[in-house]
Amino acid sequence: MRAVCTTGMVADVVRNVAGDRVEIRQLMGEGIDPHLFRATPDVTAEMEAADVIFYSGLHLEGRMADLFESMAEQKPTIAATSTVRHDQLITFGADAHDPHVWFDVALWSETVESVRRFFVEFDPAHAVDYDTRAAAYRKQLLALDAECRARLAEIPKASRVLVTAHDAFHYFGRAYDVEVRAIQGVSTEAEAGLKELNELVEFITSHKIKAVFIETSVSDRNMKSLSDGCAAHGHKVSIGGELFSDSMGKSGTPEGTYIGMVRHNVDVIVKALQ
Ligand SMILES: [Zn+2]
Repeated sequence: MRAVCTTGMVADVVRNVAGDRVEIRQLMGEGIDPHLFRATPDVTAEMEAADVIFYSGLHLEGRMADLFESMAEQKPTIAATSTVRHDQLITFGADAHDPHVWFDVALWSETVESVRRFFVEFDPAHAVDYDTRAAAYRKQLLALDAECRARLAEIPKASRVLVTAHDAFHYFGRAYDVEVRAIQGVSTEAEAGLKELNELVEFITSHKIKAVFIETSVSDRNMKSLSDGCAAHGHKVSIGGELFSDSMGKSGTPEGTYIGMVRHNVDVIVKALQ
């Protein structure tokens, strides 16, 4: 069986639930921005050849919407976030949902159900295996969620402010009681304006924030302008480190798994803001 997955986070859920019985192809590797990812003819061909397609959904993969629609006419094409409780999704703008659900580890664990449900139906002979693996992975994620909560609580409340390149961290902020600010919006498709940049410089300077964070899948150009702006106001803000926001680390490294990526982010944030 061959599964095509979009992001690393989705591929990780599929890998953990499906086990060795499934060959997994992850389309978006290290440093790839899913908001901007466009399918090449090769990617389209891989999707054509797959038995099932898993994507994150909520318009994270904004430029692939038509492709998902046409694939759905041919084969199971599943949004991992389809089993996340709808009333827990963060809305923005008129009626759009923030797609960055994986930053709330407990909420992201609800995507496991979309994958489990598919495999149990597709391959009922091995249903018990899928059920067992899904339950084990969810348990690991819930333990990770508790770990994140405990680690972030080490940062004094007044310093628990996360400034990043794009607005990906609202679920993180809500789940772990961290105030979040960003230069660019929820999608990286819209460029940051000078007004937003100046407001953020004012915010960082007046709140005496020590560190801001770059993201591996977003250019650090805006963050440099931000720290220059703060310096011009007599406030030195450092780059607290690099966070994995919309793509995981290199495959084969700890950060190349969802659990490793979350731990890395929490470590970097706690060290810089504590
Ligand atoms: Zn994003």
